[in-house]
Amino acid sequence: MTTNTSQAATVQRSDVLNLDALLSAEELELRATVRRFVDERIRPNIAAWYEDAVFPTEIVAEMGALGLLGMHLDGYGCPGRSAVEYGIAAMELEAGDSGLRTFVSVQGSLAMSAIHKWGSEEQKNQYLPGMAKGEIIGCFGLTEPTAGSDPSSMATFARRDGDGWVLTGAKRWIGLASIAQIAVIWAMTDDGVRGFLVPTDTPGFTATPIQGKLSMRASIQCDLSFEDVRLPADAMLPGAKGLRGPFSCLNEARYGIIWGAMGAARDSYEAALAYSLERLQFDKPLAAYQITQQKLVNMLLEIQKGTLLAIHTGRMKDAGTLEPVQISVGKLNNCREAIQICRDARAVLGGNGITLDYSPLRHANNLESVRTYEGTDEVHTLILGSHITGIPAFR
Ligand SMILES: Cc1cc2nc3c(=O)[nH]c(=O)nc-3n(C[C@H](O)[C@H](O)[C@H](O)COP(=O)(O)OP(=O)(O)OC[C@H]3O[C@@H](n4cnc5c(N)ncnc54)[C@H](O)[C@@H]3O)c2cc1C
Repeated sequence: MTTNTSQAATVQRSDVLNLDALLSAEELELRATVRRFVDERIRPNIAAWYEDAVFPTEIVAEMGALGLLGMHLDGYGCPGRSAVEYGIAAMELEAGDSGLRTFVSVQGSLAMSAIHKWGSEEQKNQYLPGMAKGEIIGCFGLTEPTAGSDPSSMATFARRDGDGWVLTGAKRWIGLASIAQIAVIWAMTDDGVRGFLVPTDTPGFTATPIQGKLSMRASIQCDLSFEDVRLPADAMLPGAKGLRGPFSCLNEARYGIIWGAMGAARDSYEAALAYSLERLQFDKPLAAYQITQQKLVNMLLEIQKGTLLAIHTGRMKDAGTLEPVQISVGKLNNCREAIQICRDARAVLGGNGITLDYSPLRHANNLESVRTYEGTDEVHTLILGSHITGIPAFR
């Protein structure tokens, strides 16, 4: 965040299209609240969390108190905010770090959405109020070691056992699993894909954090294994049948990414802009050179377009008209542009941009994950290719 008046003025000048005018007073107030939280709680610590590969569990309850968990869900103790408000929060959190926005996405858009959309009344009452407060952490297990872009090939299986179920198999890349109390696990059954609520202390359930990540270091992803995990009959989410169950949750998370990616891009742009105004080379600030200005302008154009796209998709979501293919436009475009912006911002910072003292390369590394999960660039390209040609080219 900028601290002095001249930096604040240059940041202000960056909203050339006056996109703030598209946001209501309540939306701007929410943005200011989340921005303050990021400035106070995330920015001072993120370099250390990232370097030490630590997810700061201590801020989970604070996020709950701010109403950031299950933010767009109604009832059951959830904040019931609009899709645009949820997007604004995602953007501000990801300006801090993608790992922190990912926490909010996994908890709210994936785990809580799955229960909210597909759970029984008992399941909703049992889990959602505690999850909204951050007292219960959830995770969402779809990806497997051999089933990523094609979840229909999943091998995890839940077989009937009397009244209950026995779960066997493995999952990979499951966010938060080692600190979660409840796991939403998607498994094949004799009746197709179904979702199960699995308390993580159930015998046979193991979560092992993935080490050596070069991206998303301030967050947790795990390998899971299920060795004859016995579940009661009411562990199943009654409403979810087939891949529509998990896909509907992925769409919620993909929508948040449209906004979040632009938060990481904006933070990188602001870092590059501030640095270029102060750093002198050949007797002038870097910002005084045409090539630097071109870099900054190219970043700005894509941030303004990407933010406009986020607001547009948000308004459609609030109106109930947003289609999955439109989410693909936003997810593909904003991830692709954001990663380029972060890399260009790093270039403006020269050697200093290689360290954790500055955010752009950390953001760029994080965005490698963001462009990979919730459908890779290639998957969203295939979704859009299929939409415009009428010819599915997935296989
Ligand atoms: C940090 C992080 C967090 C994650 N969190 C979760 C989580 O909480 N829960 C969860 O279930 N999963 C999670 N994932 C998993 C993520 O959703 C998968 O990594 C993603 O779906 C891609 O699957 P894959 O890694 O197996 O790659 P693959 O599917 O093996 O793909 C490898 C490459 O091949 C390309 N490819 C695949 N199919 C085609 C095709 N038909 N045509 C052209 N190219 C193709 C892909 O685009 C990609 O570039 C997470 C991943 C990461 C990195």
